[in-house]
Amino acid sequence: MGKKTVLVTGAAGFLGSHLCDRFISEGFKVLGMDNLITGNLKNIEHLFHLKDFEFYHHDVSKFVHVSGQLDYIMHFASPASPIDYLKIPIQTLKVGSLGTHNLLGLAKAKNARMLIASTSEVYGDPLVHPQTEDYYGNVNPIGPRGVYDEAKRFQEAMTMAYHTYHGLETRIVRIFNTYGPRMRLNDGRVLPAFIGQALRGEDLTVFGDGSQTRSFCYVDDLIEGIYRLLFSDYAYPVNIGNPDEITIKEFAEEIIKLTGTRQKIIYKPLPKDDPMQRQPNIDRAREILHWEPKVSRADGLKITYDYFKTLTEEELFAKEHNTFDEYIKK
Ligand code: UDP
Repeated sequence: MGKKTVLVTGAAGFLGSHLCDRFISEGFKVLGMDNLITGNLKNIEHLFHLKDFEFYHHDVSKFVHVSGQLDYIMHFASPASPIDYLKIPIQTLKVGSLGTHNLLGLAKAKNARMLIASTSEVYGDPLVHPQTEDYYGNVNPIGPRGVYDEAKRFQEAMTMAYHTYHGLETRIVRIFNTYGPRMRLNDGRVLPAFIGQALRGEDLTVFGDGSQTRSFCYVDDLIEGIYRLLFSDYAYPVNIGNPDEITIKEFAEEIIKLTGTRQKIIYKPLPKDDPMQRQPNIDRAREILHWEPKVSRADGLKITYDYFKTLTEEELFAKEHNTFDEYIKK
């Protein structure tokens, strides 16, 4: 029997590139697709010489064609940080909605199994804590995050509809805050923001009073959970994340300690609709996938810091990093 083929959308992004690596190491033929709006080819350049890897420069919001056999589709194309939603709101909506529809159509035509990257943002600024998959969420459709949150909610609805009405094999992962090598330094998210500031000798910008919480999962743990979900027979959403919750202020202090920076914490206004508390309940993943995170934040942060230290001066001082001011203003 020949190799199984998997299409990974968002292949040049943070999670997409790690997924490509995983499927290659498991002996799959991997088709990577990306329009490179937020992705970076540097993340997958080590795969280009492999005969089992092909790259397609394509926007999945437009009709997607792939010739030959296709067994699995992993839909990971999407801007994924609040700064990006403000810069490219329509693309964010389109990739989650039109892109998902195109890929579901492709999956149906090829009789492929499709896994979509959903998000803890479907819970919005949650009123229930920690968040179980049964919680319906508290989402502002017209706030700054609405373009992402609602696209992802639509994406789940569309995927379930294809599952129910067409009998398509589908999987839905709800991803909580994840970090690791290949995150974009300037995407505005808290970990690259803090590490970038420390490396440039700038103060660390905590938004609000820093009492809001997040729970950070190391990328290898996340990829393992997603891989197990794909090969499970469970079609309903599954939270994958690390329940180890921390306030953003404490997180900034950890980064100061890790990097040894002499800079201090400065406070900026809290952006609109910034969730106050976020922590996954992962009972479902534990039960169905026998999965739980293994990498401690201390270990994961160290690996991630080592990665960011390999960036060039030019990358470190690229202009884009100042966009958080623009972001707060909205
Ligand atoms: N945050 C911060 N300083 C920064 C960037 C982000 O204090 O320079 C905060 C942000 O307001 C939020 C948390 O860190 O409360 C996580 O932000 P991120 O954008 O990483 O992800 P999300 O809010 O989508 O979980």
